[in-house]
Order: sequence, then structure tokens, then C-alpha cells
Amino acid sequence: MKILVIDDDAQIRLMLREMLAWEGYDVLEAANGREGLLVQRQQAADLVITDLIMPEQEGLETITFLKSEFPDLKIIAVSGGGRVSADQYLPMAQEFGADMVFSKPFDIRQLSAAVKQLLGAQ
Ligand SMILES: [Mg+2]
Repeated sequence: MKILVIDDDAQIRLMLREMLAWEGYDVLEAANGREGLLVQRQQAADLVITDLIMPEQEGLETITFLKSEFPDLKIIAVSGGGRVSADQYLPMAQEFGADMVFSKPFDIRQLSAAVKQLLGAQ
């Protein structure tokens, strides 16, 4: 199974890559939504973990594009900080098509369990 991590924070990408690779997943990375969409078109991940606040193309728009092009793709949205609080963004992400949402800082074990649950259900 292949997972695409979209986040402008390199530290978060690294942490997720290490956790997911350790769990046995193939991990792809992108630093913003536009790049993420290009990677997904080329390498079609089974699940995307996307940040919501990013330069170039933010997360809600990215989720909309991903869901319209890849209806079966599982999406986990993560957010925190920024001008708009996670409290406001995360429910919107779910309306836009995210299967699960997490606020930063997230519990890595809970995120790992969510990934397994979403991919196991396919
Ligand atoms: Mg960000």
C-alpha cells in the first residue's frame, strides 16, 4: 500500500515517513497541494495524509481536487496553528471529503491506527 504525505513542514513529513515506512507502507511526499496532486497523478497512492494550511495550494482545495479525480482515495486531513484554528478547518475538511481529521500536534499512534482502519476497509 502506498501513502502520500502532503505537508509544507519537512519535519512532519519526515516523522510521518519514518512511522509509515516502519509500518511497511511505501511513502511519497509533497510539500504543497499542487505538488501533491502531480505526485498522485503519477504514482496513485491508496491514502493521502494532507496538511490544511500550505503555500501554493491549501488543503481544502487539494482535498476537493483529489476526491474528484480519485473518488476511492482515502484522505486524512491534519491541521493546527495558522490564522484559522483547527476547530474551524477540520469540520470543513470533512465536508470537503476527508475521511478523518486530526489536529496538530497529533498522537502518532492514533494516526497510525486511522491509517490501518482506512486501508483495511478497502
Ligand atoms: Mg502547514
